[in-house]
Parts: sequence; C-alpha cells; structure tokens
Amino acid sequence: MISIKHLSKTFHNPDGSLLTVLKDVNCDISQGEVISIIGPSGTGKSTLLRALNMLEPPTGGEIWVDGENIMSKGYPLDKLRRKMGMVFQNFNLFEHMTVLDNVTYAPMALLHTPEKEAKKEALELLRKVGMAQKADVFPASLSGGQKQRVAIARSLAMHPAVILFDEPTSALDPTMVGEVLSVIRQLAKDGLTMLIVTHEMRFARDVSTRIFFMNEGVIYEDGSPEQIFEHPVHSATKAFVNRIHKLVFELDGDDFDFLEMHTDMSRFCIKYNVADKAELAHAVAEEMLFRHLRIFRPLTLRLTHTELSGETALDFMVEGLSASPLQADASTDSLRARVKDIIEEPTSRGFRIKVLL
Ligand code: ADP
Ligand code: MG
Repeated sequence: MISIKHLSKTFHNPDGSLLTVLKDVNCDISQGEVISIIGPSGTGKSTLLRALNMLEPPTGGEIWVDGENIMSKGYPLDKLRRKMGMVFQNFNLFEHMTVLDNVTYAPMALLHTPEKEAKKEALELLRKVGMAQKADVFPASLSGGQKQRVAIARSLAMHPAVILFDEPTSALDPTMVGEVLSVIRQLAKDGLTMLIVTHEMRFARDVSTRIFFMNEGVIYEDGSPEQIFEHPVHSATKAFVNRIHKLVFELDGDDFDFLEMHTDMSRFCIKYNVADKAELAHAVAEEMLFRHLRIFRPLTLRLTHTELSGETALDFMVEGLSASPLQADASTDSLRARVKDIIEEPTSRGFRIKVLL
C-alpha cells in the first residue's frame, strides 16, 4: 500500500547551516499493518510522519501510495490527505466548533457528504470512541484524553486508508493515557492500518504487527514486536528497549530532605504509569533508611523502573560494606512480606540491597 524509497529530509537552518534529519528511509507497508515507531527523541520520527503526508515535503526519495508516487509534480495533496489521517500530540481540534462539528467539518467540506448523513456517521464514530455524550460541547470543556478521542473520531470520519499517530498520549495526564490507548487498540482489532510514534513500550509490543526502531535518521531495525523487544539484532536497539529510568538520591549527612524525596518519587511513579507503587516506595524507603540502614551513611538510593518488564525497584547502595546490613531476623519479616523480592548482593564497591516493589 505504501512504499518508501530512499526518503530524505534536510532542513535549512536560519543561520545557513543544514540539518539532515531523515537520511535514507526505506520500507514497505501493507494494508492492515499496525506499525509502532520507537526511538530516541530527535531521530526524525515526527519528521517521517510529516513527510509521509507532505506536511513537511521531503528533499529526496520516493513515496508510493497505492501505486502512485505522491512526490511527483501535480499529485493532488487533498487526495493524499484523504488517504492519510493524522492524529497529533496536541489534538489540534477546532476550538470554536462543537465536538460534533469538529467531526462533520471535513467530510462535509471535502467529501461533500450531506449534513444529515455526516452527523449520523459522526455520532456513530463518537460513540465508538466513547464521546457521543459530549457531541454538543466545545473542546475547551474536555479533558486531554477526551480531546484526543474526539481527534481520533475526526480522523476516522474521512475514511482514511491509514492513520498516522504522532505520540498521541505524550501530552496527556498519566491517568488519561489508558483511555486513548484502548481506543487505538480497538482500531487495531478492526484492522485499520496505522503508523504510531509512541514512547509506550508495552503498548507498542502488545498492539503492533511490526516495530520500526528509528535511530539517527534511518529505520535502524525493522521487525516483529518479538524480534525488537526480545531478540533485537543491533545493540542500539537492545539498549533502547531495555533502558531503565532512574531517580537517584545521595544521602550523606543529616540534612537530607525527605519531603522532597517523597514528592520526587511520587512524580516518578506517575510519569511511568506505576502510581500505585508510590505508597509502597515511600514506606519501604522510610523503613530502610530509618531502621535497617540508619547507621549506614553515605548511602545511594535509586528508584528504578524498567518499562518493558514493568519492574519497579528501590536500590540501596552502601560503599565499602561487604555483608548485608539487613538482619536475617524477625525485624525484616513485615518488610519481606510486603514486597515482591529482596535481593542482597555485594558489588565491586560495596553492598547493594534491591527491593522489588
Ligand atoms: P523525533 O520526533 O524523533 O523526536 P523530529 O522529527 O521531531 O524527531 O526532529 C528531528 C530533528 O529535526 C530535531 O533535531 C529537530 O530539531 C529537527 N527539526 C524538526 N523540524 C524542524 C524544522 N521545521 N526546522 C528545522 N529543524 C527541524
Ligand atoms: Mg516527535
């Protein structure tokens, strides 16, 4: 359905310098594929989507859609935009129109669908994304998750052959990520062709038929979710998918700000969708720091989260120590009962206790 050949994009900066963002992108996309595009920021993921629907005209290469090179002179852009829907990070709804009008606008203006028919279909689509009850309100009164679901309905109203999603959940409050991902999941089940730039690794693994790992302006690795996440060929892919998010605290003297630690830990847990672990993280950190490890300073505490496995842990590291400072007696029983596991191990520089939450 879509064939991308040697696609490149170079930006001309105002100071005259050049920035080549897409170097040589090649891929074939078939109908019904759900492709998640992952990779470090700044590697051209958004630029690739924007080049695909000519929001950002490429500087070289070819894009074939249904047997036609859309980069050839005279290819009608409105035809392309009908084939490719786009859902943006910041929703881009028409703020001065009601939810219903947002969805009926393009079919009426561009496809000349009669108003009655456009409204009927818009309501069906709004029902599909769980937003029919808000048809008559203005976007300003909606939450981010609701706005994004309306944006998805608006895109579907044009019956596009493919929808491009550019980080559809990254502007959302963490509590609203799920409702948008579940709508996209449903579209995948319906067999809609989609290209989704996302940072949600577990979602990407579960929903996609294929993953593109983009790095430095090329599709660095292209494979099934199983290949990319379980058996990546390239070390850069492996490092990216297994990356661990960390929050580090150094406890030295007595002037450590525990309140700030609490706040930072809560934020971290919300950011990585493990808000339910925050309470336990606080309790474990306090019990360890004030009871079991009270006399061990300096000490390094790390809260870590591995996105792909979903593992969240607290690491306590004491330098220069050779045996576990945790007593193997009843004083740690209640702690052991509340957590998934406690791993005690010597490191090259001291001793580490890892508490899996
Ligand atoms: P990603 O989506 O992977 O984070 P982008 O495609 O947004 O990356 O951007 C890749 C690079 O291109 C970045 O360095 C960005 O600053 C640059 N870039 C993006 N759009 C423009 C533009 N319109 N003009 C100049 N540079 C741009
Ligand atoms: Mg981007």
